[in-house]
Amino acid sequence: MTPLPLGSTIGILGGGQLGRMLANAGARLGFDIRSFDPDPDAPAGRVSAGHVAAAFDDLDAVRAFARDCAAVTFEFENIPVAAADAAAAEAPLRPGSAALLAAQDRVEEKTFLNGRGVKTAAFAPVASLAELTAALGAIGAPAILKTRRLGYDGKGQARISQASDAAAEVAWRSVAGAPCILEGQVDFVRELSVIAARGQDGAIACYPLTENRHEAGVLRESQAPAAAATDITAQAERIARVVLEALDYVGVLAVELFETRNGALLVNELAPRVHNSGHWTLDAAACDQFEQHIRAIAGWPLGSPRALRRARMVNLLGDSIDDALAHSARPDAHVHVYGKRAARPGRKMGHVTFVEDSAV
Ligand code: AMP
Repeated sequence: MTPLPLGSTIGILGGGQLGRMLANAGARLGFDIRSFDPDPDAPAGRVSAGHVAAAFDDLDAVRAFARDCAAVTFEFENIPVAAADAAAAEAPLRPGSAALLAAQDRVEEKTFLNGRGVKTAAFAPVASLAELTAALGAIGAPAILKTRRLGYDGKGQARISQASDAAAEVAWRSVAGAPCILEGQVDFVRELSVIAARGQDGAIACYPLTENRHEAGVLRESQAPAAAATDITAQAERIARVVLEALDYVGVLAVELFETRNGALLVNELAPRVHNSGHWTLDAAACDQFEQHIRAIAGWPLGSPRALRRARMVNLLGDSIDDALAHSARPDAHVHVYGKRAARPGRKMGHVTFVEDSAV
């Protein structure tokens, strides 16, 4: 493990709120953070030591950006692999592009997981209406049709409640012929996530499980630490370890999970980055996920993932960012505003974490 020299420059591909919080954490540890995003006004750029506004397919710009960095990371998983590879040719990219490849395509992701003994919903790739009808026959209803790539926060998804030709046709039309995956709808009791980190020395640290509530595919609220049987925690940590080691991963990884009625965990998806369900760690864990990621990619020892307090994180979506000031009047509230200019409906504008007084 060779730590980056103190004060080195770290580059972040992507300039959203995750990049912004990574930049803040990096600055606190003395690094110069530079962000790269097509938007000159991106939230991360406005708190970074430098910002490059260019398209991800401008590989010359990516190369020039990475050349000035001692290490490069990314804050969202839909960075084109070509951009990640261009950056990796100039500076160490952590985590590497294998993590992007595993997470960008839902079929590849589930195939990767199942191949390592990690369970997911039943699924089938779907490239035509005929394939959808056949997959629906095999998997049964209810099921969810999702685009293989570029879906997030429930976008590019259609629920199918009956295994009929008519229902298949409606769903197929709604995805406009994009390559898809059909997933069996999991009858889960709750959604959990585990945020885990792997250092350059192979050390692994897992935060306590987080329980998440989504509405219309978007995370609304997280509660941590989730009340969980030891066996559930052990399963989640085993899954995180398998994924981190298979990808020779360095940095923070989030694994979104469904807990089934019989106490099994199925992976919904992997996020090879810091994650919304880990925001509570900023205010209630010994070392937060953003600092943890910077530590990992900089070759520092990992910090403690221990929860110090019970916390409930609520996303401020769209106009509800206007409640930020009212929340800030509560003594248990920690308010985070991402500095996005336009509060479009459903857009993640900030979050507030309510932290209990008593220790965990
Ligand atoms: P995704 O964009 O795939 O993370 O899906 C967003 C949300 O939709 C998840 O957090 C779940 O609440 C729900 N969902 C997605 N896939 C499934 C599934 N196969 N079974 C049940 N619920 C699902």
